[in-house]
Amino acid sequence: MLIALHPGSFDPPTLGHLDLVLRGRKLFDRLHVVVGVNSRKSPLFSAAERVDLFRASLEADGIHDVEVHAWDGLTVELARRLGASVLLRGLRQVGDFEAEQSIALMNRRLAPEIETVYLPCREEHLGLTSTLVRDIARMGADVSPFVPVPVALALRDRFKGKT
Ligand code: ADP
Repeated sequence: MLIALHPGSFDPPTLGHLDLVLRGRKLFDRLHVVVGVNSRKSPLFSAAERVDLFRASLEADGIHDVEVHAWDGLTVELARRLGASVLLRGLRQVGDFEAEQSIALMNRRLAPEIETVYLPCREEHLGLTSTLVRDIARMGADVSPFVPVPVALALRDRFKGKT
């Protein structure tokens, strides 16, 4: 049984993240999404909120076989606990590769039995980052082309009356 983890900050989840999960889930017998608790010092959404947003986004797409976890330890440690042998990550631009290479090499030092697998993002998601989505939402603009519906609603609520 081939089990994969898709770890990230997901602050908030975007259509790029969701697409990666939808494609990843076809490649593996089981896919777990892992929300990093401490991945940013002051995230916009708490880890529990990011987990709920990812779950709601999957449900809105009719996906019920992907589990979403919050985790504040080493990713490879959770992978071992869940019996996962693959870490799934997405690649957008060249800059992603440099950062991803360091993480993958370090994870291999920590857990040589676990492989990192990259999927190229879809063309329409190339410039899509959670940071840009947060910034656009903060300015009061419509982010619905970039995020699942539950995330768009949560962002609207978060910045209501602040623009
Ligand atoms: P991190 O802070 O760990 O990089 P992110 O939430 O930014 O977490 O991203 C999690 C994963 O999703 C990473 O592998 C990243 O490359 C990938 N990713 C981010 N945005 C997109 C996108 N627009 N399309 C496809 N993959 C993406």
